[in-house]
Amino acid sequence: MIGFFKNRQIYIELRPRCPKCKKEFMLDLKKFLPGKAHGCHACGTIARFDAQLAERVQKLIHDLELSLREVHESFASQEAHE
Ligand SMILES: [Zn+2]
Repeated sequence: MIGFFKNRQIYIELRPRCPKCKKEFMLDLKKFLPGKAHGCHACGTIARFDAQLAERVQKLIHDLELSLREVHESFASQEAHE
């Protein structure tokens, strides 16, 4: 899993496997959305995203983005000490 915070946006990439052929695919966690699915490029299997889990994940990403912004601001608001 890789993750970073750039332009005030979180980017987290996961490498899940196709349930059928087990081929890894790249999943941008922000695209893990309720009602969406992943079509395997290797075997064509459609892996549906768990709607409740997807909703929970999106909310967590949103909350985390807000918190990370606060981390940046907490440094920005400090006075510089040598
Ligand atoms: Zn597959």
